[in-house]
Amino acid sequence: MPEKKVLAARKRSRKHHPWVFSNEVIETEGQPETGDAVLVYDRGRFAGSGLYNANSLIQVRLYSALNQELDEVLLRKRLREAAELRATELPGETDFRLAFGESDRLPGLVVDRYGRHYVVQNYSAGMDQRREMVAGALVAEFDAECVYEKDDFRLREPEGLVRREGVLYGRPPERVIISENGVRFQVDIRSGQKTGWYFDQRNTRRRVRETVKGRRFLDVFCYTGGLAINAALGGAERVVAVDGSAAACAIASENAALNGVEELCEFSTADAFAFLKDLPRFDGEFDVICLDPPAFIKSRKEKRAGLRAFRTINALAMKALPRNGILVSCSCSHYLFWQDMVDMLTAAAQDAGRNFTIIERTTQGPDHPVLLGMPESEYLRCFFLRVV
Ligand code: SAH
Repeated sequence: MPEKKVLAARKRSRKHHPWVFSNEVIETEGQPETGDAVLVYDRGRFAGSGLYNANSLIQVRLYSALNQELDEVLLRKRLREAAELRATELPGETDFRLAFGESDRLPGLVVDRYGRHYVVQNYSAGMDQRREMVAGALVAEFDAECVYEKDDFRLREPEGLVRREGVLYGRPPERVIISENGVRFQVDIRSGQKTGWYFDQRNTRRRVRETVKGRRFLDVFCYTGGLAINAALGGAERVVAVDGSAAACAIASENAALNGVEELCEFSTADAFAFLKDLPRFDGEFDVICLDPPAFIKSRKEKRAGLRAFRTINALAMKALPRNGILVSCSCSHYLFWQDMVDMLTAAAQDAGRNFTIIERTTQGPDHPVLLGMPESEYLRCFFLRVV
């Protein structure tokens, strides 16, 4: 059982939020060290057990409303519960995000499952220190063949964590083949972006597949072809896709062949901004254009510059669409909220001199659950707009 204590006075509206910020902490007892499990008392009332980090603005991340240690027993229980949720929400799927941090009461822990291969990311010091335990739990609970740690990302720095990457268990294969809504994709665990695959877009990919029949589809920021290949399988007449990464485009072409749609798809390496500026001169028109850029806004202070980048690419795509054309506009920036996006799209439509209706919105799939009362857990927002 944790014995060290953190006494806090939290903002009242954040009573159910799993983070205690450093400016809410009044006092600590027992000299907790970074990574320790602690008991949190909020204005004298027991609030739960959490992971402590002396170096972070997020001083405690709560993982339980009870007084309990985050040991292997609890870790395995949480992972089992996470797997049960996915089995219910994504019946028949074998590849998905198994753990999505705070939403699965595993603060700062991300686990992506590619069949029996697992990729782990640690955003908190407490989980970072328990990473061997996590690997052991994945082997014991799910008979993992390999566990690979992909902790080479910028967001580790505010937590005081070094960047690192490597094998925790077994040996990752060169490529893994996964399936999503019946479509197959190759994933390069070691060299791919993030954990290798963007599971969060499964809903958007399905909607695109249902929307494009007989239409010409352009996928900008295509990565390894998630949206483009779904469009081809959904009966698109022609599919053109671009990404800045040549490695991603190479896998995208292989993925098209894996699904028997290589004749329909054309992948090329290009800077998206330059490509979109050139769109008026591009040979042929597109009825559906999809924009799925990386997070342009990574912190609050990047919001203005990021919004400008979003507005630029959206206006360029909007201008190129024919009557009844569709724009699928996505954002994975935490700080771009739904209304910010509506405002940005409105401004872009004015720049383009076009009018649109919103036909649909999609967000992260059920393997990335949004925790009510934790706005930070929702980050993926996509609009399907139709030219009027
Ligand atoms: N739609 C994809 C995910 C896109 S992730 C899917 O369904 O899987 C964002 C992509 O943008 C990455 O592949 C990255 O290589 C690419 N990217 C980032 N900056 C870019 C730029 N300036 N031009 C073109 N592509 C870029």
